[in-house]
Amino acid sequence: MNAKERLQIPPQSMPEQEPHVRIHNQQEVPLGFTPELAVKEAQRCLQCRKAPCIAGCPVSIDIPKFIKMIEDGDFKGALAKIKERNMLPAICGRVCPQEEQCQVQCTLSKSKKAIHLAVSIGKLERFVADWERQQGVMDIPSLPAKTGKHAAVIGSGPAGLTVAGDLILMGHDVTVFEALHKPGGVLTYGIPEFRLPKEIVNYEVEYLKKLGVTFKFDYVIGKIKSIEELLEEFDAVFIGTGAGLPSFLKVPGENLLGVYSANEFLTRANLMKAYDFPASDTPIFAAQTVATIGGGNVAMDSARSAIRLGAKKSYILYRRSEKEMPARIEEIEHAKEEGVEFHLLVNPTRIIGNNKGWVKEIELLKMELGEPDASGRRRPVPIKGSEFIIPVDAVVVAIGNSPNPLIPKETPEIKTQSWGGIIIDEQTGKTSMKGVWAGGDIVLGAATVILAMGHGRIAAQNMHEYMMNGQW
Ligand SMILES: Cc1cc2nc3c(=O)[nH]c(=O)nc-3n(C[C@H](O)[C@H](O)[C@H](O)COP(=O)(O)OP(=O)(O)OC[C@H]3O[C@@H](n4cnc5c(N)ncnc54)[C@H](O)[C@@H]3O)c2cc1C
Ligand code: SF4
Repeated sequence: MNAKERLQIPPQSMPEQEPHVRIHNQQEVPLGFTPELAVKEAQRCLQCRKAPCIAGCPVSIDIPKFIKMIEDGDFKGALAKIKERNMLPAICGRVCPQEEQCQVQCTLSKSKKAIHLAVSIGKLERFVADWERQQGVMDIPSLPAKTGKHAAVIGSGPAGLTVAGDLILMGHDVTVFEALHKPGGVLTYGIPEFRLPKEIVNYEVEYLKKLGVTFKFDYVIGKIKSIEELLEEFDAVFIGTGAGLPSFLKVPGENLLGVYSANEFLTRANLMKAYDFPASDTPIFAAQTVATIGGGNVAMDSARSAIRLGAKKSYILYRRSEKEMPARIEEIEHAKEEGVEFHLLVNPTRIIGNNKGWVKEIELLKMELGEPDASGRRRPVPIKGSEFIIPVDAVVVAIGNSPNPLIPKETPEIKTQSWGGIIIDEQTGKTSMKGVWAGGDIVLGAATVILAMGHGRIAAQNMHEYMMNGQW
């Protein structure tokens, strides 16, 4: 097929559950490409010689190569090609912000014609990973001879899982310590089932277990064992404990009943399956009008979860305009389709309770956009005297998270930034403490899955070198 013919193929859209159906269930919204749709979408790729898409991928997947394999019907080969660089393709294919990474660089997206939208790289990545899972045969590679070295990984989010996978494939023994009773970090307790089915996270963890990784759950490092104690037992330690400390608004009324941090709200809904109460153990307040504060993925997940938990009205309250929202475009679109109402350029000033201590209203101040701030986005500026009140019966605060402070607090030798992120050497992932590496959200603050995995990959390579030659 020549380039001219490829340019005639329209972008293939992925089938999705209809909004009026999906708001009554927890199942995944996009249903995935069929093999026919995937091959057609792959045919759109121009196989560019310089492939700018690769430079846009934080883990440098050979994108044109895997797409060509899909075009040729070699789905197994395509998956193997992706896995050379990315251990968790079914997850990244679903949650990575491809529209800001590989796809924004795609040659096709530079054209002004609508037909030339970027190749759907993420959807193709998801397709091959799903295809393998549906075959029901997990391809387990043979392992090299054991090195006799043993690494400890703290946290089983994408950073920790990547380190565990890379190190076991290099012949080391690996033990993962996880504070919660289930693996996956935010992939399990934060991102909802309708966006990332837990079956997929479990499949990836199962793969690691089959490779020989040991998981210890309900195991809080910093309480049960210190880093110093781990170093007596293990040859190297990786900290991937994430950014699970929620930020709050610091406005009056924030401690009223019915005010949740997004972490608590989503953990109840996802990890503890409150949507299934009383069949599950954990309840959640059946609010009718839920206001979610924030404009990122966490806010979209909360507002969309509120609808599925039975809210008649679910609002997003955001202090800038939609253009500045950090959430993925797809999530914003899905939220709107599901009936989430967006109230933009507003900031909460207080939450008002009834005489029983439950939320009944929220007061908002109107904002306008000023000059860009340090983030490059236009700064929200309050409009004096513009306060107004709307009735709500639950408030979910989704305005950001900071690194989990426990391990740095208990381990003064590990140096941190003023805002709590562990300081590492970017080239190696080393912390200031000998034998200890860190990566993911505990270093970056709340960031992305692929950046956490990228950190994990760098750290694993350096941990391997250290364990083999002993040089710090
Ligand atoms: C609701 C939500 C939606 C998101 N949506 C997206 C998205 O669409 N796309 C995207 O790319 N990113 C998204 N993110 C961000 C992304 O999930 C994170 O950047 C990523 O999970 C960070 O990975 P991590 O491995 O560093 O940490 P985490 O995933 O946070 O995992 C850390 C793990 O460490 C464990 N832990 C913490 N302290 C200890 C301890 N002392 N001892 C033992 N274990 C400990 C925690 O229980 C947790 O399991 C979202 C985040 C949230 C909260
Ligand atoms: S830039 Fe786009 S068209 Fe070119 S190789 Fe990458 S995915 Fe294919």
